[in-house]
Amino acid sequence: MPSPKRSLLISAGVAALVAGLSGSQLAAGAAAVPTATVPAEAAAPGPGVRGVVLAVHGGAGSLPRGSLTPEQEKAYRDGLTRALRTGYELIKDGRPALDAVEKAVNVLEDDPNFNAGKGAVFNTDAEHELDASIMNGKDRRSGAVAGVHHTKNPISLARMVMEKSPHVFMAGKGADDFALRNGVPFTPQDYFWTQRRWDQLMAAKGNPPASAAGAKAGRSEAGGTVGAIALDGDRDIAAATSTGGLTNKQVGRVGDSPVIGAGTYADNRTVAVSCTGTGEVFIRGVAAHDISALMEYARMPVTKAAATVVNQKIPALGATGGAIALDARGTLAAPHSTKGIINGYVTRDGEITTRLYDDETPPE
Ligand code: ASP
Repeated sequence: MPSPKRSLLISAGVAALVAGLSGSQLAAGAAAVPTATVPAEAAAPGPGVRGVVLAVHGGAGSLPRGSLTPEQEKAYRDGLTRALRTGYELIKDGRPALDAVEKAVNVLEDDPNFNAGKGAVFNTDAEHELDASIMNGKDRRSGAVAGVHHTKNPISLARMVMEKSPHVFMAGKGADDFALRNGVPFTPQDYFWTQRRWDQLMAAKGNPPASAAGAKAGRSEAGGTVGAIALDGDRDIAAATSTGGLTNKQVGRVGDSPVIGAGTYADNRTVAVSCTGTGEVFIRGVAAHDISALMEYARMPVTKAAATVVNQKIPALGATGGAIALDARGTLAAPHSTKGIINGYVTRDGEITTRLYDDETPPE
């Protein structure tokens, strides 16, 4: 149940929806973007979307057309667009894919509409425990954090673990302390509070939502976990995933998002992947690495490998979800066994596309 402080905050209401550019097809300017060579050992590509340099997702689930108000739809599309534009500008400037995925995820972590950073869901104790991981395809360096309480942008802390510690994975208090030691400002838990996530927790605990908006949000909910995958001008790829996990999750529960090989994976020889869905099963299926393995060992194109894992292997283990996967040629796959997956991508000419509704994201 909420602390007195938290109860007071309920009356503060939901944070304002994000402002920014609208529309699903926005040109972000011309780019000095990669013209990826095809690795000799790579399999022939399947269909997918070609010429992609950056893709993001905002969680698997279902968003039937009509389930969002026009304002909500604009807020989602604007959030995805800002993330894509931010990452694209970096790639256009010759910065590494690793920078692009980190900064794109930062935008989504700061956006209350997504279940990561600011908009993270509540656990059973009405707290926020944040998970994130990042991986560099060139050398397979990676960093991850789980159960973080006081870090505004967990993906940046994951990168810090990768670059400023000899470790790959840090959890809980140790990870928050590592953040403080490296000059990351302490973020109080109340920063992560939003009315919508509170209503979802109350609904999960069997209490009616406190607001009509909460009731609607609960009906039209997609997962909200965020991820990004990118291909830079040096033909390096990278992947990042950040989440608050599942509403009403047991305190201490960790899903797939911070687990390298499960929720996130990147290898220049194959693919950059960010997953979303029931984390326990994505861990058991080692989903992100399995997509890479099918490409490396079975010579599958990215579309077939990603669809095999997401639409066959994960459901066979008892769960649904989705993934975005980008190969080193710039071919994007976004399969999902849920009805949809919120996602967007930018091609090397700077054209941005966002896909929210179930009918915009056909299963691949
Ligand atoms: N995979 C996330 C988790 O299990 C949740 C999600 O993607 O919706 O924590």
